[in-house]
Amino acid sequence: MQRLCVLGATGSIGQSTLDVVARHPERYEVLALTGHRNLTLLVEQAQLHKPRYLVAADKQDYSALAKLAADAGLACEVLAGEEALAFVSGHDDIDMVMAAIVGAAGLLPTLAAVQAGKRVLLANKEALVMSGRLFMQAVHEHQATLLPIDSEHNAIFQCLPHDYVYGSPASSGISKILLTGSGGPFLNAALSELDNVTPEQACKHPNWSMGRKISVDSATMMNKGLEFIEACWLFGLTTEQVQVVIHPQSVIHSMVQYQDGSVLAQMGNPDMRTPIAHALAYPDRIEAGVAPLDFASLADFSFQYPDYTRYPNLKLAIDACQAGQYATTSLNAANEVAVNAFLQGRIRFTQIAGLNEQVLQSINATELNDIDTVLKVDSQARELAKSLVTRWQG
Ligand code: NAD
Ligand code: MG
Repeated sequence: MQRLCVLGATGSIGQSTLDVVARHPERYEVLALTGHRNLTLLVEQAQLHKPRYLVAADKQDYSALAKLAADAGLACEVLAGEEALAFVSGHDDIDMVMAAIVGAAGLLPTLAAVQAGKRVLLANKEALVMSGRLFMQAVHEHQATLLPIDSEHNAIFQCLPHDYVYGSPASSGISKILLTGSGGPFLNAALSELDNVTPEQACKHPNWSMGRKISVDSATMMNKGLEFIEACWLFGLTTEQVQVVIHPQSVIHSMVQYQDGSVLAQMGNPDMRTPIAHALAYPDRIEAGVAPLDFASLADFSFQYPDYTRYPNLKLAIDACQAGQYATTSLNAANEVAVNAFLQGRIRFTQIAGLNEQVLQSINATELNDIDTVLKVDSQARELAKSLVTRWQG
C-alpha cells in the first residue's frame, strides 16, 4: 500500500490523479489533500478519499475549511498555510507526493517532499524552471525519486534506456530529444488576428483539457518553452540536445532519437491519466481509465518546426535556458503575471511576450545559489512585470 499526498488536489492534474487512485484502492491510500480556492471541492474529495490531513494553502481559509469539513462529518485534521503544505508533503507516513500546484507557489512544498526523500511525481514544472540546479541537487542529496508527470517528459522517460546516465545522453547512443507540442489553438490563425484573441479562445486547447494558466501557455507555446527548460534539468541535457517539434494531433507525446537512426516515441490518447498512472505505478503498469488508441481513426499524423514569429515566447524560453537560472526564474515570474493580466482582460494576448521580454532585459545576471535568492529574483521580476501591466493597461 502506497500512502499518497496530493498537492493541488482540486486542480486538473489533482482531479485526474484522484480518478486513477480511486480505480486502485488496494494499491493507494490518500493521506493528505491540499487545495487553494475551491474548498468545497476539496471537502468533496475528502469525503471520498478519507485523508488524514486536509490542507488549505491560504492560512486565512483555515476556519472556512474547518467548518466545511465539520459540516461534512469528516474526521480529518484540518491545516492551513504554507508551512502546513510543507509539513504534509514531507510527512514521515507519506511515501509519494503528487506535486500538482500551479506556478511558483508549488516550489517550496515540492522541495519539502524532495528533502524528505519521497517519491515525487512532478507536474509542477515551474519548480524546475525556477530552481533546476538546486532542485536536482536536492533530489540527489536526499535520494528522492523523481518521476515526470508532464506528458512529454513522461514520454521521454519511457523512451530512455533503463541505465540512462544523467547528463550523458551520448553514452546511451542518444543523439537528440524531440519534444513535441501541439502548437495550441492558434497554430493556423492569421498572425494579425492574435492581437484580438480572448481568454476563452486561448483556453480552448484543441486536444487537452487543462487549468487556465497552462492553457494560455500552450497557446503562446511558453508551455513548450518551460518544458524545454524542464527537460534540460530532468535529464541533464544541453540546449543543443533538445529540439521542439510541432505535432498538432498530440498522439506522440515526445521522442528519443538514437545515433543509429532509431526514433522511439511514446504514444497514446491525450489524457493526463496515462502519465499519472505510469508514475504512480512505476515500474508496474496499471489501468488508467484511458481509451486505447484507435489507429484507424487517426486521420492525420503531421509534424512541423515552430515559427518563432508566431511563438516569440518559445524563443525567449530557449534563450533564457541558455542564459542561466536567473533568466528562467525571471521569465517564469514575468509570464505568470502576464498570463494572469491577460486572463483578467488587462493586456492583450500578444503583449504577453513583449512583457516577458522587457522583464528579461531588465533583470541583472546573478548566480542563484540558494532558494532565498531564487525567491528574491522571482519577486523582483514579478514586481517589475506588475508595474509594466499597470503602465500598459488601456
Ligand atoms: P490547475 O489550475 O487546474 O490546478 C492548480 C492547483 O494548484 C489547484 O489545486 C489549486 O488549488 C492549487 N493552487 C493554485 N494556486 C495555489 C497557491 N498559491 N498555493 C497553493 N496551491 C495553489 O492547474 P493544472 O492544470 O492542474 O496544473 C498543475 C501543474 O501541473 C502546473 O504546474 C502545470 O504546468 C502542470 N501540468 C499540467 C498539465 C495538465 O494537463 N493540466 C499537464 C502537464 C503539466
Ligand atoms: Mg506537457
